[in-house]
Amino acid sequence: MWKSSTISCLTKDGLRIGATTNHRTIELSSLIKEKYPVLVDMEENLASIQTRNWGTIGGNLCHGDPAGDPGPVFMALNGSVKLASKQKTRTLPLDEFFIDYFETALEEGELLCEVQLPPIPIRTAVAYEKFNIVKNDQGIVSVAAAISLKDDGLGCKDARIVLGAAAPAPMRARDAEKMLIGEKISKGLLEKVAEKASEEADPVADIHASEEYRRYLVGTLTKKMVKKAWEEVKTLAK
Ligand SMILES: Cc1cc2nc3c(=O)[nH]c(=O)nc-3n(C[C@H](O)[C@H](O)[C@H](O)COP(=O)(O)OP(=O)(O)OC[C@H]3O[C@@H](n4cnc5c(N)ncnc54)[C@H](O)[C@@H]3O)c2cc1C
Repeated sequence: MWKSSTISCLTKDGLRIGATTNHRTIELSSLIKEKYPVLVDMEENLASIQTRNWGTIGGNLCHGDPAGDPGPVFMALNGSVKLASKQKTRTLPLDEFFIDYFETALEEGELLCEVQLPPIPIRTAVAYEKFNIVKNDQGIVSVAAAISLKDDGLGCKDARIVLGAAAPAPMRARDAEKMLIGEKISKGLLEKVAEKASEEADPVADIHASEEYRRYLVGTLTKKMVKKAWEEVKTLAK
């Protein structure tokens, strides 16, 4: 029987993570390590072990914190959430789940039941990093990048770049993504993509960082994550 703290993975359907699964369970799942290693990397740097032992994936997403780690990674993985109320059940892409600062698309009486991730397409790599001052603290800015390689193994077939803590809610840097499609990734292109992502960001200033500094970090991390995913996918394709 499916329980809300269950993780299951089928080759065809991908991964389902029940809403009450805690961070530590995701971190230690051998299934996730094998199929979605970026999630393990993300969890290992999310808060302390104590926090990971009680914090749930459903609570994390529904809290709607723009600096939450799982949101951008799930979005880069093209994930969805299953939402249910007494009246209806619906599935919503995570791209549409985060609305504003601590605001999500949950309607009154709705619960998040599970996160659903499709299988990672072949010749695709995903990378995530947050910049923080104190290790494992929430990110001042974070970036997740997923890069898919064309069948010829040369150009970029698809790209998803997701920014965390760089706007009131996690966001795709869609114009920056478009610049990568069909292209071979070079140093010059990476610079332009990073600049575009930092223009697209809509950061707020707070006690942790100014708007300008966040834009700078978006550029730096975008360059780093796109390069990391690109290099990894080129290795996979060999
Ligand atoms: C010290 C500390 C450090 C942290 N550091 C990080 C970090 O580095 N990165 C990061 O991403 N997170 C971080 N967090 C967040 C933490 O990891 C939890 O994921 C988060 O606090 C949610 O906790 P919870 O599962 O107890 O949810 P709750 O606090 O119980 O719930 C949060 C909100 O979501 C609602 N809710 C919960 N579950 C559901 C559901 N299934 N359906 C609908 N609504 C629901 C609740 O009603 C509430 O409004 C940190 C938290 C603390 C306290």
